Formats: sequence, C-alpha cells, structure tokens
Amino acid sequence: MRIVLFGPPGAGKGTQARRLVEELGLRHISTGDLLRAAVAKHTPLGRQAESYMKAGRLVPGRIVEGLAEEAMAAAGCDRFILDGYPRTVQQARWLDAFLRRQQAPLDAVISLDVTDEVIVARLSKRRTHRITGRTYHLDYDPPPRSIDPTLIVQRPDDRPDAIRHRLEVYHARTKAVEGYYRRQGLLHVVDGDAAVDVVFGRILKVIERAVVQPMT
Ligand code: ADP
Ligand code: AMP
Repeated sequence: MRIVLFGPPGAGKGTQARRLVEELGLRHISTGDLLRAAVAKHTPLGRQAESYMKAGRLVPGRIVEGLAEEAMAAAGCDRFILDGYPRTVQQARWLDAFLRRQQAPLDAVISLDVTDEVIVARLSKRRTHRITGRTYHLDYDPPPRSIDPTLIVQRPDDRPDAIRHRLEVYHARTKAVEGYYRRQGLLHVVDGDAAVDVVFGRILKVIERAVVQPMT
C-alpha cells in the first residue's frame, strides 16, 4: 500500500499520518521531518536546506528527492505514506518515474481540503516536541503537563510571516499537484475541516474503497 497524503501546510497531514501508522502499520515518510532532522544534525544537506525552510520556501528538488528515495527504499517501496512530498508537479513526475522503476505504483493520493483561514488558526498555535517531533495544538490538542515545557517549541516557519509565505507557495506551486493526480484517477479529496477523529474516519473510508477493495 503506497499512499500520498496531500494538502496545504497545517492541513493535518502529520496528525493523520500518525494515526494511520498506528492503525495500519504503515511507515510515515515526511520530507519535512527528514529535512528538520538533517538541519538538527548540521549535516551538509541540512545546512543547505535550513535557510529555505526558515523562510517557508521550497527546498531545491534534488535535495528532497535524495531523502525521499532513501526513505522509500528503506521501506522496501511498500506500505508507506508520503507526507509533504511531492510538492510540485516536477516532484510528482520524479516520483512517478522512481516508482515505475521499482514497479511499485501509488494506490491513492488523499488530499485534505482545508481553507486558508483554518490553516492560519492551526499553524499559529501549533507546537512541536523538540525531540520526538510530535505536534500539538494549544487549543485542540495541548501538550500534557507531564512534558517538560522547555521541550515544546514553535517551529520558526510557524510564525506569521512564514505561514503567509508557505500558503502563497502552496497556491502558486503545490496545489497543481492535485490536477496531476486527478488526471491519473488517483485523487481523493477529503474534507479536513472537522475533528481529528472525524477526518481520520473519512480517510479510512477512502483507503478501504481505493486500496483494499480493488485488491480483493
Ligand atoms: P501538517 O502536517 O499538514 O502540516 P499538522 O498535522 O502538523 O499539519 O497539523 C497542524 C496543526 O493543526 C497541529 O497543531 C495539529 O495539532 C492541528 N490539527 C491537525 N488536525 C486538526 C483537526 N482536525 N482539528 C484541529 N486541529 C488539528
Ligand atoms: P512540512 O513539515 O511538510 O511543513 O515542511 C517544512 C518545510 O520543509 C517546507 O516549508 C519546505 O521548506 C521543506 N520541504 C518539505 N518537503 C518539501 C518538498 N517536498 N519540497 C521542497 N521543500 C520541502
């Protein structure tokens, strides 16, 4: 099972991917998480990526492709959810070519549909655990009191300027990826503006229809 979880920054991709990992045992491949890990370790790649990320700009494709390829290969090119990749039509073409070579086509692209207004409300109150990368929301999913508050931080790109810029990048460059997958018959749009459990139920229904049934 190979799934792309698509949507604007803050749509809930990471939150839902975490649930899918628990429910279906899939591997979560988030290019954002992989890049943040490279930045934290000060690798040469992380140093190249850092300034793009802080400003909310897209990191050059060749950097992200290397990370995505390594993670998919480590998963045996199966049973994974891609989150935050692909983010341009060019990246989607690269992914197609890579998966074709592996004879491992995508099963479904699930797009979380959320308005810009909701995105701003979610991202401005998102907080992240510095070590685990687990995300919280100050209102909807606050970090438990048992966690040392100094470990709960705001991502630099979750500040107002960067949020605005990331939304612009999404509309200018990423949204078109939906059309690319719609033409392939792989796109499933899910309304992401509801409680986490409700959205999760919608995603599971899509997976049942799109992935499980065609295989039986
Ligand atoms: P993405 O991975 O798409 O950037 P996240 O999963 O990190 O988005 O979610 C962004 C923020 O919104 C987080 O603070 C998360 O706790 C919160 N969130 C996610 N899904 C929902 C939801 N359905 N309702 C309310 N808040 C949500
Ligand atoms: P995310 O955690 O998915 O919100 O990603 C955080 C940041 O990492 C983005 O704003 C980009 O700077 C970078 N990034 C993540 N995935 C990609 C990608 N597929 N292409 C380019 N940049 C990416």
